[in-house]
Amino acid sequence: MDPLVEALQQTTAQKPGFRCGVQKLRASMSAEQQAAFDIELDGLFQARQTHTRYRHSAESLARVLSDHGFTIRGAVIQGHLAGRCACGR
Ligand SMILES: [Zn+2]
Repeated sequence: MDPLVEALQQTTAQKPGFRCGVQKLRASMSAEQQAAFDIELDGLFQARQTHTRYRHSAESLARVLSDHGFTIRGAVIQGHLAGRCACGR
């Protein structure tokens, strides 16, 4: 394989640590759970942008997740949606 192509792919595989609580949580989920979680995050993000209501708030989403063993605080989700985290969303 071309050394550059190989290097690029390695960089992609080794993302800088999971400092964002949302990404950390996401990494512990199954692919199916991640997909569902992403839909909720997107919905929340869109609602934020358009100042509309979504079926979840960051707090209620955090509660559902925590109820199912994925402990996270609403403030962490809020921070993630607002781009105040290391993952760069
Ligand atoms: Zn994040």
